[in-house]
Amino acid sequence: MLKVIKNRFEQGCKTSSYPKEPITLYSRYRGLPIVNKDCPKIVAVQCAQICPQEAIDPERLLIDLGRCTFCGQCETVENGTFVRFSQNFELGAANRQDLITDGQLPDLAAHAKAHFKKLFGRSLQLRQVSAAGCNACEADTNVLNTPFFDLSRFGIDFVASPRHADGIHVTGPVSMNMKTALLTTYEAVPSPKVVIASGCCSISGGPFYGSSEIIGDLNSILPVDLYIPGCPPHPLTTLHALLKFFK
Ligand code: SF4
Ligand code: SF4
Repeated sequence: MLKVIKNRFEQGCKTSSYPKEPITLYSRYRGLPIVNKDCPKIVAVQCAQICPQEAIDPERLLIDLGRCTFCGQCETVENGTFVRFSQNFELGAANRQDLITDGQLPDLAAHAKAHFKKLFGRSLQLRQVSAAGCNACEADTNVLNTPFFDLSRFGIDFVASPRHADGIHVTGPVSMNMKTALLTTYEAVPSPKVVIASGCCSISGGPFYGSSEIIGDLNSILPVDLYIPGCPPHPLTTLHALLKFFK
């Protein structure tokens, strides 16, 4: 026992001080893309052509964060003339349309679904549903339970049974094989309930976009309340979105 206490004193507190204090991510992290509105159209078209996700609208100079995998290909064209990726990890949105952006996202805290704050602001229990994800989204969600992020300190937990949950957190492109299981899980959650689409797969199909084996757009079968883009979303992106949306 004394060894445990000694160890504890030696190691100190490992939990991040975010969101009380800002946090800096490593230099290679790609966060919110900032589009250059003065970019020549020919360069934007070039970027759109190499984008594997068809996420770039070269006419309106916009990027769809619901499709983007943050691969960085478009930033390599003409030395980042069209877009530069910032280190801003605050990417969550309450409306799908908001994710089609030039680098400006509305303040998530000001979303129109304020009743969720009242309902779940003090305690939020989520059931995670991996609907054919590649396991990266799932792993980076799981990280939130480690001492560094310590999600439970905010009153947010992942629970085993949908009967004990206030909503579902969905990852993956929703394969045809997972559709029934997903809908059954959603039905098992008592109302009122929330639906969170995490990762570009659940928002748009992600890398599987266009496949006949997936649903792709979670919103086409369930009413999505919160979108968390990324491939996978950084744990801080998820943490920020959950805190801003519910707290
Ligand atoms: S970073 Fe996003 S927008 Fe750019 S090429 Fe990759 S998927 Fe397309
Ligand atoms: S969004 Fe990316 S990381 Fe998440 S399940 Fe899909 S492919 Fe995997």
